[in-house]
Amino acid sequence: MTNNTETVINAIDIVRTYKVDNLEVHALRGVSFCVNTGEFIGLIGRSGSGKTTLLNIIGGLDRPTSGEVWVYDNDITRLSDRHLTDFRRNKVGFIFQSFALLPTMSAFENVELPMRMVGKSLRERRQRVMECLDMVGLTKWAKHRPQEMSGGQQQRVAIARALVNRPGLILADEPTGELDTATSQTIFELFKNITHHENVAIVMTSHDPAAEQYMTYTYRMADGRITNERTA
Ligand code: ADP
Ligand code: MG
Repeated sequence: MTNNTETVINAIDIVRTYKVDNLEVHALRGVSFCVNTGEFIGLIGRSGSGKTTLLNIIGGLDRPTSGEVWVYDNDITRLSDRHLTDFRRNKVGFIFQSFALLPTMSAFENVELPMRMVGKSLRERRQRVMECLDMVGLTKWAKHRPQEMSGGQQQRVAIARALVNRPGLILADEPTGELDTATSQTIFELFKNITHHENVAIVMTSHDPAAEQYMTYTYRMADGRITNERTA
């Protein structure tokens, strides 16, 4: 058994400043937050508040101007580019608003891709891909291409793909931005179930207040800051 209170992320005083021409854009002005295994954590805030910037830094897609990002025992801001790429491939699953599925590939092949990239055997891939499609309720859709599926189904393929390498952390940036209210709620429900049943933490950005009832904790963001303090 793994300990459910294990800290997955501890981000300390993250600053991210973009230089645009000669102007500085302060996307993050000193953000600290933490996420534990099994938690479904929300980042809620208006457009431009810094949600995507923060998510990209936690996932090793971007580097902060200053601050530390501890993921388990590593400060990922100190990793070389090569080690950061390894970290992303093995430890993090990403989910985007636009689903980002490959249109010429079946659901099975889309989910399988991250396992190919880390060199898993065919036998292991078949077993794990079907397990993940089952988890998102799409076993019967394995051979279908994205354009034959609804938006909600496509996002569930993307969720299966994010889970396939058993990451400790899944980052979802506005995953329901293109889905209707009812479908969005089934996705939030699925995330909640996944954090309970898989050994994973999920951090999701959203501006949908309906998401909050599914979450372990919600951080609110405004103007590059977190405005509520987490005490528990
Ligand atoms: P959110 O995801 O909450 O909408 P973002 O993290 O995308 O917010 O953006 C936060 C701020 O940083 C915004 O003011 C945005 O314009 C700015 N920003 C984001 N990415 C860049 C970039 N690559 N170059 C310059 N400014 C950026
Ligand atoms: Mg964003």
